[in-house]
Amino acid sequence: MKFNPVIEHLKVYEPGKPIELVVREFGIDASDIVKLASNENPYGCSPKAVKAVQKMADTMFRYPDDTMDELKSSLAEHFGIKTSNLIIGAGSDQVIELACRAKLYGGARILQSEITFAMYQIYAAQCGAGIVKAPGTAHDLDAMYSLYKEHEPEIIFICAPNNPTGDCLDSVDIENFIDAIDRDTLVVLDGAYQEYASYKDRAKAIDPAAMIERFPHLLYLGTFSKAYGLGGMRIGYGIAAEEIIKGLYKLRPPFNVTTLSLVAANEALRDREFVQKSLKSCFEQMKEYESFAQKLGISTIESYTNFITYILEGVADSSDLCDKLLRRGIIVRDLAGYGLNAIRITIGKREENLRFFETMQQIIDSGER
Ligand SMILES: *Cc1c(COP(=O)(O)O)cnc(C)c1O
Repeated sequence: MKFNPVIEHLKVYEPGKPIELVVREFGIDASDIVKLASNENPYGCSPKAVKAVQKMADTMFRYPDDTMDELKSSLAEHFGIKTSNLIIGAGSDQVIELACRAKLYGGARILQSEITFAMYQIYAAQCGAGIVKAPGTAHDLDAMYSLYKEHEPEIIFICAPNNPTGDCLDSVDIENFIDAIDRDTLVVLDGAYQEYASYKDRAKAIDPAAMIERFPHLLYLGTFSKAYGLGGMRIGYGIAAEEIIKGLYKLRPPFNVTTLSLVAANEALRDREFVQKSLKSCFEQMKEYESFAQKLGISTIESYTNFITYILEGVADSSDLCDKLLRRGIIVRDLAGYGLNAIRITIGKREENLRFFETMQQIIDSGER
């Protein structure tokens, strides 16, 4: 069958291995598998969100409230913005997709850092756009600015903190960069891990309200999949000036977010105590990962997220190590696909992290690399 030529060369995205697959492939009991691969919150989500979903379950025969007013009002209050500055998506992924479709067409370009969230280039390629990448493992804003001047991209993506490396630009540097970009170029600022970054270091904190006030060409993205622990509910949001939101709304499929996702997100947003506890434990446990790495001579990147990147240069081969961990029931993310000999490990619960340390130690001690 003949398809749109744009999709002819696209590859199918391969997400992290789900627990079910490891059960099937290696015959390991599901309860013995430790998944530290998708940056999920190891503590789950707010129990209040679970209760609210259970309570709403018998309304699932109805279409959702497509105004999404309840969640929008809560988010508007949380950020100090208007509900008209918000769009809710089936994950912030969907908002990325809408932004690409709104701005890109054949011949258009996006600009991003070389090693960053894979979905930017995937959605851009689906629109037939070219991908311009600023080299380096961290966002190099000077290089990005030169490439912006040279290639005049329609969208610039900034991921702060960055996935899969965990590092984070200072918010003042991001602001100065966005200010230098012309107002017809959309700047997408992905704050999927902002809860973690702003908890660890105020210099990394982004205030979307102040940012969109100042920048009419900025789209800020947030998600409920990470700190709020709602990855399975597929819900995230975009914050921008009304003009951008109106443009994205023209492309939004109706009823794009389910009733249960909306109530879960609303409850999760209100349960500040749960979020605070998750953030605190994350960084306490991250220290363990840092000292373990030091012990093994593995270098790490300072992380402002709920994961840590181990650079394995001179210690192991990332793909080989991931395979050995997987056979022992531990799922982490291999970064070989990004051209890095590194693995990304989501910070789990204490007992999960101990399992990881023990297993890593065994693999390395057995000389079986
Ligand atoms: C997880 C993640 C997202 C969005 O995830 P959704 O589940 O689609 O909301 C966006 N950007 C980055 C960098 C992420 O890591």
